[in-house]
Amino acid sequence: MEYEGSYQKVAEPKIECLLFDVDDTLYPLSSGISADCTKNIIEYMINKLGIEEDKVLVMCAQLYKEYGTTMAGLRAIGYDFDYDDYHSFVHGILPYDWLKPDHTLRSLLHSLSIRKVIFSNGNEAHVAKFLSRLGLEDCFDDIICFETLNPTCKDNDEFPKPPIVCKPFENSFEQAFKIAGINPQKTLFFDDSIRNLQTAKIMGLRTVWVGSSHRTKGVDYALESIHNMREALPELWEASEKSDVRYSGKPAIETYVKA
Ligand SMILES: [Mg+2]
Repeated sequence: MEYEGSYQKVAEPKIECLLFDVDDTLYPLSSGISADCTKNIIEYMINKLGIEEDKVLVMCAQLYKEYGTTMAGLRAIGYDFDYDDYHSFVHGILPYDWLKPDHTLRSLLHSLSIRKVIFSNGNEAHVAKFLSRLGLEDCFDDIICFETLNPTCKDNDEFPKPPIVCKPFENSFEQAFKIAGINPQKTLFFDDSIRNLQTAKIMGLRTVWVGSSHRTKGVDYALESIHNMREALPELWEASEKSDVRYSGKPAIETYVKA
């Protein structure tokens, strides 16, 4: 063909930031912790909000689907409850000790001199507990979590609470980019949830589906486990090795919590 080879592939912008979900991304779904979390949500709905037992399962699934999280859905349909109380009931009694330090992931993350940011719908205490159990507390530069995205939710009974901001909705990504100074075109986003990845793609991020061995719409890379990062994305290490910037060894995590 006349024009064959006359076009050069446009190079993708260099990755400058890695953005990570936590639940079922930094540790596997098979840990059973997510199943326990759902059990606690159901119990909260029955025991604290008085929702009928025979309706609760369907309602929980529908709210999750429509509103991003069951909690956001409960709030949206008019249930008024204390967010800290919800989080401590649902997450406070999770079997965190099922998780063991993940030395493999820790050394993978430390070997990359690229900025790393957590982006989770979970609350601050939940994220901190996971990172601590996995031995990853010093692997991330910033954390975006529930309190970051919903800063007016705490200690403010004077005004009606605004709707909860959470993945997979575009406003949560917009806020995360703004708060953490993220350029989506230069960021790789790791998540186990396909709907989060599909929004991420629309928002300009490059996407990695963790926990799946096949790609689909909205997914640039698929990894069965986060441990396969190096095999699937060797270019990150190549770029990292070329860079003069080395991991800073920064011990503390800066969490963008305003509330
Ligand atoms: Mg997840």
